[in-house]
Amino acid sequence: MLKKRSIQMKITLWFSAALIVVVALTYFVILSVSRQTIQKTIRDTLITAVENNVDEVEYYSSASLVVTDGDVDYYLQHGDGYIEIDDDFLDEVNDIYTSLCQQDGTLLYGENPIILETAEMDFVDSQVQRIRVDGILYYVFDRKLEEEGLEGLWLRGIVSETQGEVELSAISRTSLILQPSLVLLAIVGGWLIARRMLRPIREISSTAAQIRQGDDLKKRIDLGEGKDELHQLATQFNEMFTRLEDSFQAQQQFVSDASHELRTPVSVIIAQCELALEEVCTGDEYREALEVILRQSRKMSRLIGDMLDFTRLELQPERYKKEDFDLTALVEDVCQDMALIREKGIALTCEAEEGIHIRGNRELMTRLLMNLVSNAYRYGREDGFIKVRLAVRREVSSVEETREEARKAASGKSRNSSAGEILLSVQDDGVGIPEEEQENIFRRFYQVDAARSGKGTGLGLAMVREIASFHNGEVTVKSTPGQGSTFSLVLRG
Ligand code: ADP
Repeated sequence: MLKKRSIQMKITLWFSAALIVVVALTYFVILSVSRQTIQKTIRDTLITAVENNVDEVEYYSSASLVVTDGDVDYYLQHGDGYIEIDDDFLDEVNDIYTSLCQQDGTLLYGENPIILETAEMDFVDSQVQRIRVDGILYYVFDRKLEEEGLEGLWLRGIVSETQGEVELSAISRTSLILQPSLVLLAIVGGWLIARRMLRPIREISSTAAQIRQGDDLKKRIDLGEGKDELHQLATQFNEMFTRLEDSFQAQQQFVSDASHELRTPVSVIIAQCELALEEVCTGDEYREALEVILRQSRKMSRLIGDMLDFTRLELQPERYKKEDFDLTALVEDVCQDMALIREKGIALTCEAEEGIHIRGNRELMTRLLMNLVSNAYRYGREDGFIKVRLAVRREVSSVEETREEARKAASGKSRNSSAGEILLSVQDDGVGIPEEEQENIFRRFYQVDAARSGKGTGLGLAMVREIASFHNGEVTVKSTPGQGSTFSLVLRG
């Protein structure tokens, strides 16, 4: 049942339950402390009342000695003399009764509401005793009179505990009205605070729902200013939405670019087929049409192949396993193979430091180098050059380390990037790339001059950048139009 309730409801319920328990406990503590305080006050008042009456009882040995001061005093004979009870003697005040008694309990003056029950009770000087009559607790305070002539006489004060009941029930009544009201107020306050505190969560959830229902990835959670955990959560969500939106847009862009790129060869193929079918053509004309169709089909096939490779690397990089391999050997092999192209009379040379090993994917590295070298051929000048270089660019290292490296190099043993950065560059003296285009060329399908690209698909450098980042590396270009370009890959250890 509780599971289905909202967090706000759960917080309020737990909070209310805890509050009710605390308030109930407080109620009982207040009551018991009040009871004790009231009882102590009753006892103190009883003692004070009896003590005040002590001076109001005087003894005169003969009637002639009695000083009449105009007060309405009470006299009673005692032994050979008289006892004067001053009119200030309070035999009953605020339900506190005081009586003058003889040692045997005989009441001489005053009031005692439980005279029968206390008849057998021994007098104990200056001490409060308790006696229960008909379920009611009474406090009894005895005071021995010590004045000459009053020996053997006692003042006995009596008060019932019910005396404090009125105050106690007043306190209890106030608590019973006040505390539940406060609890109610606190519960309502708690409910409102919980509601306020959970508002950001509702905002987050409603934004997420809007994104889900409307596929509107542009929506963001707006919680206003704040640095608490929920604001941090909202920021994380917003960043996640931004990333989702970016990759979604990139995906859409890719699909649209790919369709755009495929449209041209498909249109050419359709046009060629229609032309060939519409009229009766000669054998040469059919051949020409078929050559165009074949060329365009090959272009499409290359494009599809490149797109597949690209998306595979982007979406499933785990398909490409990493292993330790000799990069020097790989560079030398690729250069050897590609030097055979000899397109435009371009001479390809290779300078590779011995024994450079890396951890990476051999197939992808080959692809990266081949893309850079093919571009260098494609955009190179007649009888120009291509220089491929591979070296370790050492950072500041100790003399011992440098010697060790040199010794390893001399002995032909492997080195890896832990000795510094590995630099692979492909330089040409071709057309070069204008400064403003140098960042664009790494974008998918971007071609500075489509006519010059020839067999290019516009995916070559995008693939190079993707392969570089797969190897935690970075690819950059330096180029001067008309003079040539140098593409560099830096792999860090
Ligand atoms: P493409 O298939 O068109 O070569 P790439 O992604 O390999 O596509 O390259 C993108 C663009 O970068 C090319 O169209 C070309 O304009 C430019 N480019 C690439 N390499 C070179 C180079 N070595 N010299 C001059 N321009 C280059």
